[in-house]
Amino acid sequence: MIMPLVDMTHREEIDRIGRKARDGNALSRDEALWLLGLEERTDIFDLLTWSNRIREAHHGNRIRLCSIVNVKAGGCAEDCKFCAQSASYQTASPRYGFIDTAPVLQAAEEAAANGVASLGIVAAWKGLNEGPMLDAVCDRLQALKAQGKVAPDASLGLIADRRVAERLAEAGLKCYNHNLETSRRFFPEQCSTHGYDDRVQTIRHLKAAGIRVCSGGILGLGESREDRCDLALALRELEVDVVPVNILNPIEGTPYAQLRPLAPLEALKTIAVFRLLLPRQEILVAGGRAINLRDLQGLIFMAGASALMVGNYLTTVNRSVEEDLQMIRDLGLEPEV
Ligand code: SF4
Repeated sequence: MIMPLVDMTHREEIDRIGRKARDGNALSRDEALWLLGLEERTDIFDLLTWSNRIREAHHGNRIRLCSIVNVKAGGCAEDCKFCAQSASYQTASPRYGFIDTAPVLQAAEEAAANGVASLGIVAAWKGLNEGPMLDAVCDRLQALKAQGKVAPDASLGLIADRRVAERLAEAGLKCYNHNLETSRRFFPEQCSTHGYDDRVQTIRHLKAAGIRVCSGGILGLGESREDRCDLALALRELEVDVVPVNILNPIEGTPYAQLRPLAPLEALKTIAVFRLLLPRQEILVAGGRAINLRDLQGLIFMAGASALMVGNYLTTVNRSVEEDLQMIRDLGLEPEV
């Protein structure tokens, strides 16, 4: 049985920790772990009332929308076990080389027509170095900026040289996604071809270049609640701006194809604890939400999500943007255009 940290009922303790977060005080690791250990449905819903209030306090009733376009798909030399785009695994995921400017601008047109504020160009490769590929990426970013329909964002892997981040900033990049994925302890079980510190270093280069950092992780990899807590604490320490929360969608052919899905209330509770630990950050619910949360998708906002990835994901199809916009409006929230 889970015992409160002090002699209180669960509701009193959830209220105490919720008030602490609402008043701008940082939660301790023990407090976050205690919340993550809640099992009872009624306790989880009590927690959700606090995560909802804290989202409202810092982000109001607006929900930011973003989309992605895959500019280079599949055949990645890295071996992240959760990823359908790794060349290490036989999956049905599409494979193609770096695409031209025209389809990128077309994706931006479509995103803008759906009221989406930013479009991330995403590539399946290890990372970016100085050279022709960086030139091509900067070219696409400049084209998006000149078109002026959406804010150009990117997710292009590891950056080992600060100058690369500066080149991206000069090309008009505002925000770069690079996830820590999970805790430092658990990361080596996810990937053997690069390390957690490579990811941390990428984030530091981006910050030094003045680029907003979007960094989060994936739930449902078989990680412990401690791993989830330590991921959120690492993101807090790195002072990232946006925290994407993905939930594993096990893809046939990857080592995680048979992994048991996360229970919806476990996922919602985790998002809620992220909100209490990271009250000011944008929390973006991204891949895996439809398959894991099913009819509970609307509760992500009560759990504290303030942003939503809409349109198709990298390797899986999402429901329509119209359905997501309807869900947001039905909850009395406003998609941010
Ligand atoms: S997550 Fe990124 S780096 Fe890892 S295999 Fe997939 S595309 Fe490659």
